[in-house]
This record gives sequence, structure tokens and C-alpha cells, in this order.
Amino acid sequence: MNANPAYNHEHIVHRIGWLRAATLGANDGIISISSLLVGMVSSGAAAPVILAAGVAGLVAGAASMAAGEWVSVKSQADAEEAELALEQRHIDNNPKQELLELQSLYQKRGLPENLARDVAVALTKHDALGAHAQDELGITLHSVAKPMQAAFASALTFTAGGVVPLLVLLLAQYQTLGSKATVFTLAGASVVTLFLTGAAAAKVSNARVLRAGLRVALWGTVSMGLSALVGLALDVKL
Ligand SMILES: [Zn+2]
Repeated sequence: MNANPAYNHEHIVHRIGWLRAATLGANDGIISISSLLVGMVSSGAAAPVILAAGVAGLVAGAASMAAGEWVSVKSQADAEEAELALEQRHIDNNPKQELLELQSLYQKRGLPENLARDVAVALTKHDALGAHAQDELGITLHSVAKPMQAAFASALTFTAGGVVPLLVLLLAQYQTLGSKATVFTLAGASVVTLFLTGAAAAKVSNARVLRAGLRVALWGTVSMGLSALVGLALDVKL
């Protein structure tokens, strides 16, 4: 707490975690679905086939993002849980060594021996596991990984991103526009959307806006270019 009202700078580090995840999910959705659609349109497939592929891709992508995120966050949570259980056993079995360990950590950070000892004793009394978790293992107990939440958020953000190129395809009137114009419309809309999500994420995290936007847009362009080549090579005409 700070009594001085002028000293009120908010740190954005805590926001960056979920923001990064949300942007990554949305970018994934935009890049993979627009690339899928560009590839399908380039192949000469009929509009209903392209639409079906797009919707299937959206569902498959959201499910795979959720599964991947769940597995990754769950294994992190399991590892943290095991580490904490081990640490709790150490604290129960060797309280004296654990206290010394904590003290030496604070001495290494710059506290004089007596003060480090006092801090270690006080924190051990207050919450021994919490102190060891945070200062020895780098785990904060209130920020332990949540797999279901992460899985749901990934699926949701992927879908939000992937819906954009699908809507563009629906609105573009593929039949009357022809495949070339449709590819350029899709690619253009996706590049702009990617630039905007990249730039918005950078803006909120105080990073360089233009560079971040261009970076994502470039990767999207490369991905759609590759898909277009594959589509042209397949040339299914159905
Ligand atoms: Zn310890």
C-alpha cells in the first residue's frame, strides 16, 4: 500500500499472461482458418465444400487448441503440485535446515545475516510452505496453473479469430466473385485483422505497436501463401 496518491503506476506484467494467451489463440484461429480457406478456394473446390471444410476446421482447431492447452497446463500444475508436496515433506522433516535455507536465500538477496534470520523465522511462522514455494521454487500459491480455464480460453479465442475469415468468405459471394478475387479478399481481410490483433496486444503491453502488428501479419501472409500453392497444386475442380 502506498499513501502517496501521485505514486500510482500500475504494472502490466500481471495482465500480459492472459493477454498473450488470448492474442495467440485469436491469431491461431485467423491464420489457420484463413489459410485453410485460401487453400480450398485455390484448389477450385465448390463453395459448399469450402464452407464445410472451414466449419470443420474451426471446430477441429478449437478442440485441438483446448486439448493442447489442457495437457500443457495440467502437466505444469502436476509438476508444481509434486514440487510443493516434496517441499512440505522437507519442511516437516528438517525444519531447522529449511529455516537456514530460507535465511541464506535472503542473505544472497542482500539482507544482513540477523535480518535475514528474522525474516526467515517470521515467514516460516506465517506460512512456511508459501515462503519456500515463492522464494526457493518461484511458485506463487495463488497463481497455480488452472488447466480447464486455460483450455476453455484457448478454444474460445481460437474460435473468435477463426470466425473472421469464415464470415469474410460468406460475405464475399464466392460464386459471383470468382476464386482469384475471393483469395485476395480473404488474404487482405486476414492480414488486416492479424495486424490489428498484433498491434492491440502490443499496445496494451506497452510494446512496439507497428512492429508487433507487422510481425503477425507477415506470418499470416506466409501461411496463406503456402496454402494457396498447395491448393493450386491439388487443383481438384469439384
Ligand atoms: Zn525449502
